[in-house]
Formats: sequence, C-alpha cells, structure tokens
Amino acid sequence: MAVQKEPDYAIDYGDPAASAGISVFSEQFDDAFYYDGDDLGARYAADGTDFKLWAPTAFEAFLVLYESWQGEPQQVLAMERSVKGTWALTVREDLEGRYYTYRVRIGDQWNEAVDPYARAVGVNGDRGYLTDLSRTTPSAWLKTDDGLQDAGPEPVSAVDAVIYEVNVRDFTVHPASGAAHKGKFLGLSESGTRGPGGIKTGLDHLADLGVTHVQLMPVYDFSTESVDETRLEDGQYNWGYDPKNYNVPEGSYATDPYDPAARVRELKELIAALHSRGLRVIMDVVYNHMYDAYRANLTKLVPGYYFRYKSDGTLSDGSFCGNEMASERRMVRKFILDSVLYWAKEYRMDGFRFDLMGLLDVGTMTEIRMRLDEIDPSMILIGEGWIMETELPWPDRANQQQADRLPRIGQFNDVLRDAVKGNIFDAQWSRGFIGGDTQAAFGVKLGIVGGIPYHEGMKLFAQEPGQCVNYAECHDNRTLWDGISLSAGERPEEVRRQMHRLASAIVLTSQGIPFLHAGQEFMRTKNGVENSYNSPDEINMMDWDRCFERRDDVAYLKALIALRAGHPAFRMRSAEEIRSRLYFEHAAEHCIAYTLRDHAGGDAAAHLYVLYHAAEGDTTLYLPELGEWKIVFGVEHVRRLEAAILEAGGIGMIVLAVS
Ligand code: CA
Repeated sequence: MAVQKEPDYAIDYGDPAASAGISVFSEQFDDAFYYDGDDLGARYAADGTDFKLWAPTAFEAFLVLYESWQGEPQQVLAMERSVKGTWALTVREDLEGRYYTYRVRIGDQWNEAVDPYARAVGVNGDRGYLTDLSRTTPSAWLKTDDGLQDAGPEPVSAVDAVIYEVNVRDFTVHPASGAAHKGKFLGLSESGTRGPGGIKTGLDHLADLGVTHVQLMPVYDFSTESVDETRLEDGQYNWGYDPKNYNVPEGSYATDPYDPAARVRELKELIAALHSRGLRVIMDVVYNHMYDAYRANLTKLVPGYYFRYKSDGTLSDGSFCGNEMASERRMVRKFILDSVLYWAKEYRMDGFRFDLMGLLDVGTMTEIRMRLDEIDPSMILIGEGWIMETELPWPDRANQQQADRLPRIGQFNDVLRDAVKGNIFDAQWSRGFIGGDTQAAFGVKLGIVGGIPYHEGMKLFAQEPGQCVNYAECHDNRTLWDGISLSAGERPEEVRRQMHRLASAIVLTSQGIPFLHAGQEFMRTKNGVENSYNSPDEINMMDWDRCFERRDDVAYLKALIALRAGHPAFRMRSAEEIRSRLYFEHAAEHCIAYTLRDHAGGDAAAHLYVLYHAAEGDTTLYLPELGEWKIVFGVEHVRRLEAAILEAGGIGMIVLAVS
C-alpha cells in the first residue's frame, strides 16, 4: 500500500570489523550469529528488567530510558556484548511505567530504534514501554487455568470453519451502530447493541450469523503515516497493511493511544468477548513487508539483514510496497516465529492469515505450522499463496505451486473467486458463472471439489480440502455487489440480488474452507471503490441502515451457514472422500449440478443433490434415481419436483435430499 521510499539518510551497513569480519550480506552471517535464545526483548519484573538485543554489526549498544513518550532521555546505559551478536543488560530497579529504546553505533553512524520485540509502546509506537503485562489479562481469562486456548470455543476441523473477515473500525463506526466505543476494539466487544429497526449490530449481529471464525484485519501497530495516533479526531482511515511494531496492538483502536497498557488490555478484551460468544479469532499478519525498509527499527539495528535485496543492491519488491522481509534468513524466521507464537499465547489467537504468503518461504511457514500444532492443532493457518515475482528462489516460495509442501495451510482460491463473479482485474469485467458465462463453470467446479486433484483433467493447487479457501469477496477489490453492478448493471436489481445470493451459496456449499467478507450478508457496497485501503469511513463502514433494509438477505446468508453446519457432506475431511462421494451430474450449460452420495462426510441424509442455476428462466433437470428427492433449500426456485424431474426457475441454488 505504501510507496517505495528512498532513504532519507545514507545507510551505514556496518563495518564487518564489528561482526568478526563477516558482512551482514554474506551467507556465513547466519552461521556465525544465529541466536536461538528465547530472551530477546525486555523481560520486566518488579525487582529488575533483563534486556537482550540482537545486533551483531553494532560496535556499541545502549539502553535509553525515558520518563514519557516524548522528551529527553533520563538514563543512557551501556549494554554488554554477549553471545552470538547479542547485547545484554539487567537494570536492578522497578522500571514499571518507563519508556525505552536502543541506541547502536553502526560503523560511524548512531541509530536509535524501538525494540523489535517490544510488547507495549507509547503513542505512535516510537518508544517501547515497560510494564507488568499480567495486569492486562481479561478477567475471563483469569478464571481459567494457564492453558492457552481453553477459554475459547471448542476446536473445529479447518473445513468446519466459516471465516468472516472484519475490520475493527468498520464494524462499529457507523453512527447507527449503537456501540458506545465506535471504531474501537471495545466497540466490537460490546454486547446488546441495536441499530436501525432494532436489528442486532456489532458483536450481536456477528455472533448471530453462525460463523465460526472472525478474521481481524491488521490489529498490530501500523505506521504513523497511515494513521497518526495523535490526530485521531482528523478522521484518518487506513487498513494498516504496513507494520511498524509487530508485537504490539495498534493504538488508534484503543480508547487512549497514549496509555500503552490500554491497547493491550482492550484487544485482549475483544478476543475474550469473541471467545465468550463461541467465536474463534484469526489474526491477519503482514510479515512479508514493512512500511518503510529504510526507517524500520529492524534496519536501524542490523542494517541490510532483514530485507531481501536484488543483485544490484536495490530492494526486492514483490509486495509492490517497496520491500520484502527476507524470511529465509534464520534470524528473520525466528523473529516471525517468535511473533506468531507470542500472539497465539499472550492474546490467545486461534489462527493466522498470512498476507502475501507467496513472498514468505516454505521453511518458515511449515515451522510455524509445526510450532502452533504444539499449542493447539486446530489453529487455522491460511495465506495468500499468490505466485509473485521475488528474489526468493521459486521452489522456496510458500505459494499455490508448493501446496504439496505446505500441508494444513489454506490458500485463497482465486480461480473460484474469478469463475463465480468474473475476473477482478478485467476492465470489461467478465460476468462469471453467476452472470451466465458458461465458460466459467469449470473454474467453479474446481472450487466445489475443494481445489483437490479430483481427476487427471481437474485439479487445482490443493492436496486436501483444508488447503483451499473459497471466497467471492474479501477486503481487496470491489465488493461482490459492486462487481455485479458493474458487470450486470443493466439487469434488474432483483436479478442482481439473486446473482449475489448464488455466489454466496456456491462459497458456502463448496468443499474446503468458506470465507466471507463482513457485510457480504447485506450485499455490502463501497460505491464502486476498488481499493478502499485509505478511503473514508463513509465508504468502508458497515452500513447498519443497509443491514436493516436487507434483513431478508442477511437471513438468507444465515440460512446458508446453517445449511453447511447441518450437513457434513459439504465439509468432507479428505480429498479421497471427496473423490469417492462427489459426482457431477448432467445439466444444461448455465447450470452446475452434483450429488454428494452415500452419507458423504457422515451426513444424516443418504444423498444430497445441489443445483446452481444461473439462468433467469426455467430449466428442466433429470435427477439421478437414488430415492425420493425432497427439498432442503431454495424452495423459491423449485417450479416442479416430481419423481426424477426437477424444474428450476430463476438464478439461485436448490438443494435436495434423499433421506
Ligand atoms: Ca500505529
């Protein structure tokens, strides 16, 4: 989202004399300086705080203590060089409430940086903060033992999940949201809020839908250039895909960004509130790039180490945001791993969504999966496994092509997305299957089977259905409603509404992991804005007036989620089972029909028949003779059902069952 910055000062990459003659750019650097201790950062205790910093190319390192987020230092204390390029210092006094930074000399240059391992920071994240984090633990968590995710909902298999993507601010910032803390962590934590027409809003609305997982768009501290936490009254807006401090929540979502404990406590309270309603939480993490590689704390401390460079010395830029993190370097991998585990344990996150995962390396992702399994194997890992240009060698890229080496990590299925509603980048906006594009049916089928190798001529990237995240809409690109308005604007509103419903129906009945964008239930519109990452609230906010007006559509989506929950046939666990139980049936070319046979997935129904009907008129279909078919879903589209004949009418989904 950011524009590449030129360095605003000449970077000193360090004199190898400081690092035993080994250049930060050389491969030997990792061998010489990989440090596997678990004590990096500041370990606060009332009787003394231990500081440990990794900075092998520094000649000198100091701890700088401050009384406040602004003003001059109180104390500057020399750190001692320790093993593997680390620096250590213990301060034997109670540092509660003090702010800190590190000052290092790299070559002839002095750099001051926030501790990359800081767990609390002052406003705008420009200084670390020392406090006893146990004081931020929500009361709900104090009642449970020290186990990790035990306070949350029961674990579910990845294909049992229904993920719902939420932006903290969007969800309650609308004037009619009924929330007291609009746009904040606490706003989304509020129960009992009501909106226009007395509808449930905020958390109540969310919990009512029946989704299992809430995916929070970036909640870590993002850059001041995106949102300045000292000017919150100015109506700034940004999604925050530009990390500043990886291990600290964003200040603008806290009731008081100047109180370093508030953001920590309030995010934890949000997670506890979601857990208390049976919802698990997935955190959207952006370890693939930072806002500004030159001014990042990581660069100030170990210049040249953390980012990927091309052979000409310029930064690799697969993210189109100016830089990429070099996840394959051992201390970068460790930093990412430490960060993920910290959020999982301290904040009880139930899963992670990796932004531009295709820029991270396979080794890092598989190690994250392994380490999270030690905490809770039901944690969900998903990522954007796009095939992207990067300096990382292609076999190492954690993308769709390497899915066989990334077991139990879900990847977004762009093939289904584009087949359902049309290509997102095509200016002419191809109509997709819901718009009557019969060529798109094959792409939809690839999603229906969960992206697995269904047969020789039909396979996508996944090996197992849990690796395939099916969706028609997310925060990126136009909303589904805005896309349909563009591709089928000349068609009556009622027809467009049916197209939208059919798209959601396909997502929620396909094998794999279904993913919804907040507001999809009321056909969210951003007035056609294609990339609303910094658009004002008016474009981005959840419009509770629209939610009230389209309460029938909300009820429809709820019914889809309930249909999926009630029928394990839509949630088959393995590729093998899908291959043996899912049969595509003959149908006219504007239709897709398939059966899920023989109690697929342990379903109570003997057989299910699913029809996606993408034509406004009527179609006659011949049903497989497996017993007496009865209507389970979509009765409004059934014109006639007699023995082996189904007559379907209008754009929509019909599900039949033989009991
Ligand atoms: Ca921030």
